Amino acid sequence: MSDLLVTGGQVLRPDMTVERADVLVDQDAGTIEAVGDPGGGDDELDAAGGLVIPGLVNTHTHVAMTLLRGLADDKPLDAWLREDIWPVEAELTPEDIRVGAELGLIEMIKSGTTALSDMYFAVEEIAQAVEQAGVRARLGYTAVTVGKDDEGARADLERSLEVAQEFDGAADGRIRTTFQPHSLTTVGEQFLREFVPQANEAGLATHLHANETPDEVGPIVEEHGVRPLAYAEDLGLLAGETYVAHGVHVDDSEIELLVETDTGVAHCPASNMKLASGMAPVQDMLDAGVTVGIGTDGAASNNDLDMFDEMRDAAMLGKLAAEDASAVDAPTVVEMATANGADLLGFDSGRIEPGANADLAVLNLDVPHLTPAHDLVSHLAYAARGSDVRHTVADGQVLMRDREVTVFDEDRVREAAVDHADALVERAM
Ligand SMILES: [Zn+2]
Repeated sequence: MSDLLVTGGQVLRPDMTVERADVLVDQDAGTIEAVGDPGGGDDELDAAGGLVIPGLVNTHTHVAMTLLRGLADDKPLDAWLREDIWPVEAELTPEDIRVGAELGLIEMIKSGTTALSDMYFAVEEIAQAVEQAGVRARLGYTAVTVGKDDEGARADLERSLEVAQEFDGAADGRIRTTFQPHSLTTVGEQFLREFVPQANEAGLATHLHANETPDEVGPIVEEHGVRPLAYAEDLGLLAGETYVAHGVHVDDSEIELLVETDTGVAHCPASNMKLASGMAPVQDMLDAGVTVGIGTDGAASNNDLDMFDEMRDAAMLGKLAAEDASAVDAPTVVEMATANGADLLGFDSGRIEPGANADLAVLNLDVPHLTPAHDLVSHLAYAARGSDVRHTVADGQVLMRDREVTVFDEDRVREAAVDHADALVERAM
């Protein structure tokens, strides 16, 4: 048996208190053995002057979109997708997706993220990158039927079902999957009526974009006479283990539906602000009992994958949406990025406690912008940055030690990403 002792630091506990403690990790089981003063450990991770936190959970991203970072900005969602993103994505090769995923995973490891939920294609490439990265992920193949003939549309949804079955449990269980209809407006009703029951029968979890912009809500109300989430429920989309990305434009009846069907929300504040999609009623959803996690969305609409930025954005935007400075407070936002996110994805992570998955990050507190330390939970929400993360551990393995990523050759991946991104844009022109 091999143990890792994370020693000398302070530890953020599940009740959002901070105490001086060591954390003993069972590396074979990938779980936390003890928190306190357990001693032991075949290997040590120096956390002196640092804060040990649960690894952050990015509940909605498109990790390979790092290759499209900064390619097109400052446009509304619909025009941005049609004019800039989709034409370039049509040229993506599996090798591009592999390199883009590796780059994104390195960025996440370097900013303390240990679990993610991804929506994309060429999932076999992303799964291999996740296996190498050592993190946990919910992966899936995203089906879109608009602009496709019947055969193409059905093939896409069949692929989404197949991928969800094929990769579930991969990488020693670190990879779980979801069935992924892209959204309620980009997948036709007849296809949803046919395939959603199949996903439910197979016991698959479901991840889709929903209620992101007003442009998405209006046509559904017009065509079906009900709000989008009522339409989703009628289709059976909320019957299983489901979470929706965004949930910006949800009314009270839809919040109630989220609670009744135990459907979670992956809140993506930076993307919602950048694309001017709107302000999600996060405090209302939390008050009603909805499980709300935080996601960065893809790097093309953010433009980074730093969950510390995202916590700060979630707190700020949540206050603005509620017109209440006490809304979405610091402990709430930290819980959203850790325990809530892990619950949403169905991982026993997000809490530093014995028996939980050993997914954690150690922050260096000896920096000007985290001084003085009146309240470390406040610092996590409002002042810390991804670059403050010193070590990252997932499933008991050290993925980054003293800012050195151990699972990838960072320089090689960055160089390859530049080459692939340049060639991709050239092909798409
Ligand atoms: Zn998205």
